[in-house]
Amino acid sequence: MKLSIGEYTIKGYSRGGEGTWFKITPPKILLDAGKVDVSMVGVDKLVISHTHLDHVLALPLVISWNFLRLSKVVSIFCRDTAVKPLLEYLNASSVLDGRSFKYELCPLREGEVFTIGDNWGIKIYKHSHHYTSIATVLVKKKKHLKKKYSHLSGRDLAHLKSKGVEVEETIFTDEIIYFGDCGYDVFSKKWRSKIVFIDATFLDSEKDRARLYNHLTVEEVVYALNEKIIECETVILHHLSWRYKVDQVIQSLKRYISSPTYDIYLWADRPYCLSEFF
Ligand SMILES: [Zn+2]
Ligand SMILES: [Zn+2]
Repeated sequence: MKLSIGEYTIKGYSRGGEGTWFKITPPKILLDAGKVDVSMVGVDKLVISHTHLDHVLALPLVISWNFLRLSKVVSIFCRDTAVKPLLEYLNASSVLDGRSFKYELCPLREGEVFTIGDNWGIKIYKHSHHYTSIATVLVKKKKHLKKKYSHLSGRDLAHLKSKGVEVEETIFTDEIIYFGDCGYDVFSKKWRSKIVFIDATFLDSEKDRARLYNHLTVEEVVYALNEKIIECETVILHHLSWRYKVDQVIQSLKRYISSPTYDIYLWADRPYCLSEFF
């Protein structure tokens, strides 16, 4: 089942310890590949949030499908510390499969925009869930009138353009933040984008387990939204432990949220729209 939010179409699955993946179109990219799904075929850009198996298990198949069926070489974006374990995993998978894999591993530098295609880019930020963990920001390239020309009329701007003056500059806007699995340290800075995917593995009744395994609780995410540590139009809670039912999350959220200023979904086997409960 897919979800449409504005211009974006999202497919995916997410259960903590079982498997997490999301496909975002545009820009047609996979965020993790923790569970096999045929809709991954044809996607040749992929971000690995960290190397826990419930986020990388399907990676060899994604690479193999794309190359064997479509001659596409998958680009894998990750943190520098993820390169060695990914190489070892993919080399072993290649031996098991009996064929060589063609792919490109692209470690990114924190905070720098890496351009993908004509209109998109990726930024990463490190955090401490695992030594290979990142938060991923999908950014959109836009043309923007330079500030020094903002007072000019359309006619004046056209005149400058006709003389070859570049009146616009390229800016990047943060569209989607995907935290993957994350611990409480992600709240040490503020985040703002249209859509935010965030770890909501536990409920507060198991906060000690959340700290132990470096995850968040549903209630902690709500706190971050209420305190405007996270500002967004849509929040998607994901990675819910398989031991919880969706109803338990709704009951817990009802105690903390009233009249939210954002749309809220819980994504497990499919997206559940929770906004209607408030
Ligand atoms: Zn996980
Ligand atoms: Zn993890």
